[in-house]
Amino acid sequence: MRVTEVKVIERKLKHNPRSHGRNWRDYAKPPRIYVFVKENVFENLSNRRVRPHTMYKKFAVTPALEALGLDVADCTVAWKQKAGCDCGCSPAFIVTSKSGARMMPRSDAYVNVEGADAAIDADKQPRTLAIATRGGVVKPSNVNELIRALLN
Ligand SMILES: [Zn+2]
Repeated sequence: MRVTEVKVIERKLKHNPRSHGRNWRDYAKPPRIYVFVKENVFENLSNRRVRPHTMYKKFAVTPALEALGLDVADCTVAWKQKAGCDCGCSPAFIVTSKSGARMMPRSDAYVNVEGADAAIDADKQPRTLAIATRGGVVKPSNVNELIRALLN
């Protein structure tokens, strides 16, 4: 596995269009480290629950913490499937401070990795997709079959 890019994106304080309140909770939550591999939507749907996060921790976390301006020795990270979204589509590491330092950056890190071992944990099975169509349940095995099933 190889890291090809590390990006840090500062969060924006979002407004709720109905209540006009500001979403401080999302804004102030601990930094996330997202890890991306080059893959199509079919592969992402199959693989996003079986990421090799032990490998990510070894290769992607330190450069991400450094890019966030954090003290690597003071940080601990935990891989959470729902770190980025309650539906589980955006797993990530959540960064916390061992010393309890309260000031965390209002930013998240986005790391691109590549390599044969970068997409799936070799000990886990990728998810088998099943799409309910008018003609019955279809189990697509590539992105073209997935699109065809979704259009049916
Ligand atoms: Zn989601």
